[in-house]
Amino acid sequence: MSKNAKSEAKNAISGWGLTPVIETYLQRPESLSAITKVLHDADFAIARGAGRGYGDLAVSPNGTTILTKCLNRMLSFDDKTGILLAEPGVTLAEILDVFVPRGWFLPVTPGTKYTTIGGAVACDVHGKNHHCDGSFSNFVNKLTLVLASAERVSCSRDSNPDLYWATLGGLGLTGVIVEIELQLIPVETAYINMFCLKSKNLDETLALFDKYESQHQYSVAWVDCLASKNSLGRSILFFGNHARLSELPKSLKGHPLYINKKRQLKVPFEFPSGLLNPLTISVFNNFYYNLIPTFYNLAYSSPENAKNNRIIDYDSFFYPLDRIIDWNKIYGKEGFIQYQCVFPPATGKDYVKKLLSLASSEGRGSFLAVLKRFGKQNGKEFLSFPMPGYTLALDMPCTKGLDEFLIKLDALVLEAGGRIYLAKDARLSAETFRKMYPKFPEWLAIKNRIDPENHFVSSLSNRLRMHTP
Ligand SMILES: Cc1cc2nc3c(=O)[nH]c(=O)nc-3n(C[C@H](O)[C@H](O)[C@H](O)COP(=O)(O)OP(=O)(O)OC[C@H]3O[C@@H](n4cnc5c(N)ncnc54)[C@H](O)[C@@H]3O)c2cc1C
Repeated sequence: MSKNAKSEAKNAISGWGLTPVIETYLQRPESLSAITKVLHDADFAIARGAGRGYGDLAVSPNGTTILTKCLNRMLSFDDKTGILLAEPGVTLAEILDVFVPRGWFLPVTPGTKYTTIGGAVACDVHGKNHHCDGSFSNFVNKLTLVLASAERVSCSRDSNPDLYWATLGGLGLTGVIVEIELQLIPVETAYINMFCLKSKNLDETLALFDKYESQHQYSVAWVDCLASKNSLGRSILFFGNHARLSELPKSLKGHPLYINKKRQLKVPFEFPSGLLNPLTISVFNNFYYNLIPTFYNLAYSSPENAKNNRIIDYDSFFYPLDRIIDWNKIYGKEGFIQYQCVFPPATGKDYVKKLLSLASSEGRGSFLAVLKRFGKQNGKEFLSFPMPGYTLALDMPCTKGLDEFLIKLDALVLEAGGRIYLAKDARLSAETFRKMYPKFPEWLAIKNRIDPENHFVSSLSNRLRMHTP
């Protein structure tokens, strides 16, 4: 409990998946000295960015949850190199708004631009370009943290490298990140040259990845995970590259770095639980599988047939879900789990098949099922999620029997030598976590050195017992 608990009100908060809901003391420091004071006053603390992590990783149960909302200044930018120095509460959306018009883009972006860069570092997020560019950590030059001792320390690949690698993907458990030096990438336009393909089943989906991925910086497949038998794994695949100026139609050439902002819709209240059930999901999936390619007028297009490619703005390509504010409320107050796992390449194909077969046969469908391929990681990370192979993410409403079902999926993932993404997790066991993350003991040795009294605690770190071997 917070030492100054009497002067604070407790709040009950959750992650994006709306479950679990946990009580905590919220603090919103506006300066470094205010962070130091919060850390001094709190027995336990954890930083929280935009709360876009799905589970219980950004809340300190009965401790203090430090909101980084007010630490949101961009401190410097070098127009020649694209190096940005910023505070952790800056969101990806803010970076895009400021820098796309100047010809710079994010090097890696998750499927929502409303995450903060502090959250992106702490989860070492990945995007649709992992197969060519790796994860966020590849573009983070330097970090500054406030440790449990209130000491302010900088780290990079050359200076305090242990702390640097333990913090990238370290889920906020090494300290509060207060500054990030991030490398942006140059772009000629704010548009993506995209094409999409429809596959009939999983074999075809994976063959299309093989065929087209190397020519595209971005690739992802939406999978109809309720399809079964010969159609198991049928998908729509999206590929894209940043559009060159010469590729834009005349109408966009005059303002290539600007996009029209689209109107956002809002889910006004929590939908009744049970609205998303196997029947409604199956109807949605059929509709999406059959109509989306028609909408894009791209069914069965290919890069050889360049006139079928479509130029779309970066918002529509990377962040379609962001157009619907609070879309998580469609799952109702019981919330949902996003189960994201990765399977190593050698057996990945078989295990993706096994997982989809299980989901389909148990009617545990998802209208948001996404398949991507990961490339190489640096190898120095301790708790980063990506590893070479196939990653599959399924959103599933919290209904009776879900936990038992997910335990079966955990067993498949373990058998294959894979792991699940902690930024999306809310229910993994401490034992399974240790088997999935073999470098945890090395990470823990660093954590124990810099935070011997285990000051930085989240609900996830308690559940996974991340303070003991
Ligand atoms: C629609 C949607 C799509 C997504 N797509 C992807 C995807 O494609 N790829 C992907 O990798 N992830 C994806 N995510 C997950 C999300 O991008 C990550 O969980 C991200 O880290 C959330 O950032 P946040 O600012 O909301 O952080 P929060 O959820 O608030 O916190 C996440 C973690 O970061 C830590 N943290 C935050 N700020 C700091 C700080 N200043 N210092 C130390 N620790 C800090 C917290 O303690 C916590 O452990 C998606 C999420 C949503 C909702």
